[in-house]
Amino acid sequence: MLKRNFTEEQVMFRDAYRKFLHEEIAPYMEGWREAGIVDRQAFRKAGEMGFLMVWPEEQYGGLGDDDFRFEQIIIEENQYALTGDWYTTLHSRLVGPYLKRFGTEEQLQRFLPDCVRGDTILAIAMTEPDAGSDLAGMRATAIDQGDHYLLNGSKTFISNGINADLVIVAAKTDPVNNPRQIGLFLVERGMEGFERGRNLKKMGKKAQDTAELFFNNVRIPKANVLGDPTRGFSHLMEALAEERLIAATEFIAAAQKAFDLTLEFVRERKMFGRSLADFQNSQFKLAELRAELDMQQVYIDHCVAAVNEGSLTAVDAAKAKLVTSELLCKVVDEGVQLHGGSGYMDEYPISRMYTDARVTRIYAGTSEVMKILISRDFLQQDFKPFVDRL
Ligand SMILES: Cc1cc2nc3c(=O)[nH]c(=O)nc-3n(C[C@H](O)[C@H](O)[C@H](O)COP(=O)(O)OP(=O)(O)OC[C@H]3O[C@@H](n4cnc5c(N)ncnc54)[C@H](O)[C@@H]3O)c2cc1C
Repeated sequence: MLKRNFTEEQVMFRDAYRKFLHEEIAPYMEGWREAGIVDRQAFRKAGEMGFLMVWPEEQYGGLGDDDFRFEQIIIEENQYALTGDWYTTLHSRLVGPYLKRFGTEEQLQRFLPDCVRGDTILAIAMTEPDAGSDLAGMRATAIDQGDHYLLNGSKTFISNGINADLVIVAAKTDPVNNPRQIGLFLVERGMEGFERGRNLKKMGKKAQDTAELFFNNVRIPKANVLGDPTRGFSHLMEALAEERLIAATEFIAAAQKAFDLTLEFVRERKMFGRSLADFQNSQFKLAELRAELDMQQVYIDHCVAAVNEGSLTAVDAAKAKLVTSELLCKVVDEGVQLHGGSGYMDEYPISRMYTDARVTRIYAGTSEVMKILISRDFLQQDFKPFVDRL
């Protein structure tokens, strides 16, 4: 029997967040999907209620509680409420922590309180038209000019790209002598030479804005360099375990929701004088999915405990990202099939979940890249049979 582990405070937090989503977010989702972007007021509302960033210390406006389970609750509730493309986790737990990890005290004081309030929206820009999985192929450069860096290049597929007020941009800082050396730069809305391109039209996740960004001779003051401008790659690596867990937490929650929608549907749908749930095919399909969902949820909750105690490895998190995204795609596919023609209709949530799910095997590192990382890990170690690892 699956037993989950949340504190009393977190259970109350879940209730309050669920109510917030129901009242302040869900009613507006349809309009935001049509517009292709979330109204930035939603970030402010979440900020006012303390739902945007829990982890920053009180002096920056947060609760000062780093327990990942608060974010797990936010991620899960968004999936259960079908508000997943209002993706605040990108702002609050994916990009925000870069400020904490590598920011100076001056940067924390300058940026963090506005991020907690929802006045400043965050994004991170690594991907370029010719550099996705192969980040080392990036062409953007930031060249030291003494009192500032000069940033040139373009980025694509950037989530929050239109809404963002502060973008962490990765760029090469010594392209001639050391092409693998990158730095991270805090690019602010309104900086001269920083332009936004199209809000890209996507297969799914319609309310989440995804954009191209352009940088033409943008002067980045030294005060906006994040961390060590020669160690950007290792800064990005440090965050990988938690970033992959964020993804896996979302995918398993979405899969749980897709299962529930399908189970509800097959119980209601009548044909040949009985319910669709009475057919052995429906039962076997759903039984397989139920078993996989329960197994994977245990692994995810285990990873959450590990990240809280600082022991989650990037490889274990890659396993979580890989299998949850593959399972989600399987659940939504079987879900559409069991819905029949209704499953292809936009008015049935399973239809949207199907298109939303497809990207999960691509972003945050593709399934193929996850497999490379996992296999590299066991190939690099001396062979030790499982029985000897007990
Ligand atoms: C909706 C959306 C939002 C995104 N948000 C952001 C964001 O906020 N910030 C950001 O920086 N990026 C973002 N991305 C970019 C995302 O991280 C990349 O799309 C992803 O890393 C894949 O890179 P690519 O698109 O260049 O594909 P490619 O890297 O070109 O991959 C193409 C195919 O090649 C395969 N492949 C790659 N390397 C290997 C290999 N070594 N061996 C075998 N096969 C391989 C891949 O698995 C894939 O199947 C977003 C993307 C999407 C779709």
